[in-house]
Amino acid sequence: MKLNVSFADLQTMVRRMGAPEVRWRVRDGRLADPEFLERLYKGLVVEPKDVDVDDDGLFSVRGERVLLYIKETNQDRHTLLYDTENAKRFHVADCSTLEAMRRQGHFNMRYVVTTKTTGMFPVFATNHMTGAIDEIEAPLKVCRSCLLKIRYKGYGGLNHAKKRDVWLAFDVGAFLWDNPTKFRSRPLHTDRTAPMPGSAPDWLDVVDRYRRFRQWACDDCGVSLKGHHQLLHVRPLDGNRRNTSLHNLSGTCAVCAPSPLPDRVFSAAERALAEKLRTDQKIR
Ligand SMILES: [Zn+2]
Ligand SMILES: [Zn+2]
Repeated sequence: MKLNVSFADLQTMVRRMGAPEVRWRVRDGRLADPEFLERLYKGLVVEPKDVDVDDDGLFSVRGERVLLYIKETNQDRHTLLYDTENAKRFHVADCSTLEAMRRQGHFNMRYVVTTKTTGMFPVFATNHMTGAIDEIEAPLKVCRSCLLKIRYKGYGGLNHAKKRDVWLAFDVGAFLWDNPTKFRSRPLHTDRTAPMPGSAPDWLDVVDRYRRFRQWACDDCGVSLKGHHQLLHVRPLDGNRRNTSLHNLSGTCAVCAPSPLPDRVFSAAERALAEKLRTDQKIR
């Protein structure tokens, strides 16, 4: 059965009714809408009302943790690509960004939210000589006011040089991974899904979340396994299922996964399906 539920609408209704809001939980994979997640990953243009600011000051959209940036940079290509000090930034928290959104409306600015973890953002670059505007992918850095606002790694208390180190080392993927929305933080398993001994108690949720986080793509060959989530095997690189930090996880398709796996045997049919998807997606 496919469930199509808009939580945003539901939440608006709840607010209108004046009902007290209760934190509730959804298990990934069951209700997450892959199409929406895909659009969000690529970047969605939003208005202030579309963006929630959670208790921790971070942004979310429909229960997904997001980054926010302005597509119109009014900066030239060289600044955006090579001048990290001066190039525009992306935001992780409500450092008065939303206030600016409300003031400026949408007359000339497009605010984009994204869950993209590559650190490369599609923006408009302006050639100030000719006035031409091109869309490019730029390696934007995080906004330093955001870091101050959320006290990221004690940012406010650091000296100038340390602040700069923390700012430069900011890892978009790790940040999104380490700061899921409360809305998303999931329970709990039934008997059927109880994890193996020696695993983090939420290991199976970690697996689901990691698959979504990578947009169901194999870390090795990049094949998209959207709609075939079970063909993406998630494992801890150090073999320790309690170490669920982002950089210790790897998700590989039925073709790329090492063999044998301790907890999974891909059938010939599953490997054939993964092969077919790779061929269809022109991956070799
Ligand atoms: Zn900011
Ligand atoms: Zn693969």
